[in-house]
Amino acid sequence: MKYDWILFDLDNTLMDFSNASHKAFHRLLESHGIRHAEELYPVYKQVNFEIWKDFEKGKIDASTLKAKRFHDFFMKIGVKGIDSKESNDTYVNHVIEYSTMLEGSLELLESLKGRVKLAIITNGLKEAQRPRIKRLNIDHYFDVIVVSDEIGVAKPQKGFFDFVMNECGFPEKQKTLVVGDSLNSDIKGGLDYGLPTCWCNLFGQENKGGLKPDFEINHLSQLHSFIEE
Ligand SMILES: [Mg+2]
Repeated sequence: MKYDWILFDLDNTLMDFSNASHKAFHRLLESHGIRHAEELYPVYKQVNFEIWKDFEKGKIDASTLKAKRFHDFFMKIGVKGIDSKESNDTYVNHVIEYSTMLEGSLELLESLKGRVKLAIITNGLKEAQRPRIKRLNIDHYFDVIVVSDEIGVAKPQKGFFDFVMNECGFPEKQKTLVVGDSLNSDIKGGLDYGLPTCWCNLFGQENKGGLKPDFEINHLSQLHSFIEE
């Protein structure tokens, strides 16, 4: 193995998030009798994206994020009288329920287990990430699991990677590979910290920001080709 550690992002890298979130959103709106969930989903996604951006920059904390995203969304679509914190909890519970592993991820973890140390490094809410990891029974693959919400700092910030490296026992940077789908959090975070990076571009995104990951894959099975000696 060319690496001692592989640090995996979770959502849309190993675990499906997009599909689970889509279904969870539909269920939430249905429970409030709000129609046209399909058209409203992009509106929610945009609101959520902006709030997560602030969270990743450290401008807001996780409890603000949890209270604010459905508050802002309901404001935007002109719906009043719904508890936004409760909506967040309902949505999160549905995401847990609908989460599945991405194609090829279990095979990959199975083939890597015992040959290289594995970690999950995820920007997520603790009440979502821990139960999803448990429900899909993947915790036994990982030596270290770091959830941003639990430590109060998120990728791509240096403090997040400081925490991760400490948890991993300070491995050699060049032997610690970051694998993730997000250019702004996973790839930027890894590059800024001096770690080799692999962009997991499973859904054919365009690389607009000029960041240069060391590797790019469009299926998890391709990871083998450059991590094996
Ligand atoms: Mg991700």
